[in-house]
Amino acid sequence: MIVDGNALAGDLTDVIGDDATRAVVRCAACGETGELAGSRVFRTAMGSVARCRGCDAVLVTIVDAGQRTWIAFPGIRAVAPLLE
Ligand SMILES: [Zn+2]
Repeated sequence: MIVDGNALAGDLTDVIGDDATRAVVRCAACGETGELAGSRVFRTAMGSVARCRGCDAVLVTIVDAGQRTWIAFPGIRAVAPLLE
């Protein structure tokens, strides 16, 4: 069965929730896992870059492009909910 992206809404909300920094991410470069909140974030005039604490790979980029803010996840292999 093929459906549109609306079918992902429930799963994405369950995993990411209201605060994406609480989600657990796996670095695509070194495999380290941890809350996104534990990454090292560098802020610039254009936006932010979050880097892996294990290997310094770029996990997330946030770029303010005027009308839109673009977010990319070049270094995240997987995301899971935080188990409390
Ligand atoms: Zn890493």
